Amino acid sequence: MFLKGKCALITGSTSGIGLAYARALAAEGADIVLNGFGDPAEIETLCSELAATSGGRAIFAAGDLTRREGTETMVAAALAEFGAIDILINNAGMQHVAPVEDFPVEKWDAIIALNLTSAFDACRLVIPGMKAKGWGRILFTASAHSLTASPFKAAYVSAKHGIAGLTKTLALELATHGITANCISPGYVWTPLVENQIPDTMKARGLTREQVINDVLLTRQPTKQFVQPEDVAALALFLCRHEARNITGANYNMDGGWVAE
Ligand code: NAD
Repeated sequence: MFLKGKCALITGSTSGIGLAYARALAAEGADIVLNGFGDPAEIETLCSELAATSGGRAIFAAGDLTRREGTETMVAAALAEFGAIDILINNAGMQHVAPVEDFPVEKWDAIIALNLTSAFDACRLVIPGMKAKGWGRILFTASAHSLTASPFKAAYVSAKHGIAGLTKTLALELATHGITANCISPGYVWTPLVENQIPDTMKARGLTREQVINDVLLTRQPTKQFVQPEDVAALALFLCRHEARNITGANYNMDGGWVAE
């Protein structure tokens, strides 16, 4: 259990990839701060499960991260419980699919706020504690869309390219403090986020559900497989290891070969 005594704050961890990170880090002994939306009783059950796995603590820090105050409240709750955060995984994200001229401006604002600005805010709030300890791991769930684009995803692609730049900037700023910053760029991972964008893509492109899955989503992934949340979490776990201390500023694609084309 190489993460015993370390505390990980993972945004958007009540579901999908974020929850897989939480489970993987708890299995190595990390205390966990969950964040995201969901049924309070189910979140309570998840916290109990994670604490039982790690033998430590797992708490929920609420916060709507489309609002700056939401990120500040979440980090304050985490710091009140644990004093400092050792591992921050900026993972919460949302998607909206529409042609740019019809893109609802409120969706643009929400996606930039959640997928990019909240990550900046969480970083600036936890870095002082990491610097004081001389150790830290900052990770981001970016996306293949941090490296390449798709039509109808203007806000998401812009935010994820921003995350790739933020990662590199942090790596340089924090290089001598024992703190690394890296992002993971999955292709399509089978989570509610992907499932929920199928109806909009069907509408935007005039396709059936099967056509969206096979001809839009998996067509980009040469392996013709969805990435699994646990695969992404396994890479994140490696990046938390001592042996990964010189990996910083990297953007790891895990996309079945998508961006190799
Ligand atoms: P998901 O929908 O399963 O989970 C999203 C999480 O974010 C949930 O816990 C949700 O409650 C939380 N969340 C949503 N809005 C929030 C808000 N305003 N404030 C706080 N929390 C909020 O999605 P996922 O697929 O696990 O996505 C996680 C991350 O992975 C996102 O950043 C996404 O862009 C990225 N990603 C996903 C895929 C994929 O194919 N699923 C691919 C590449 C990147």
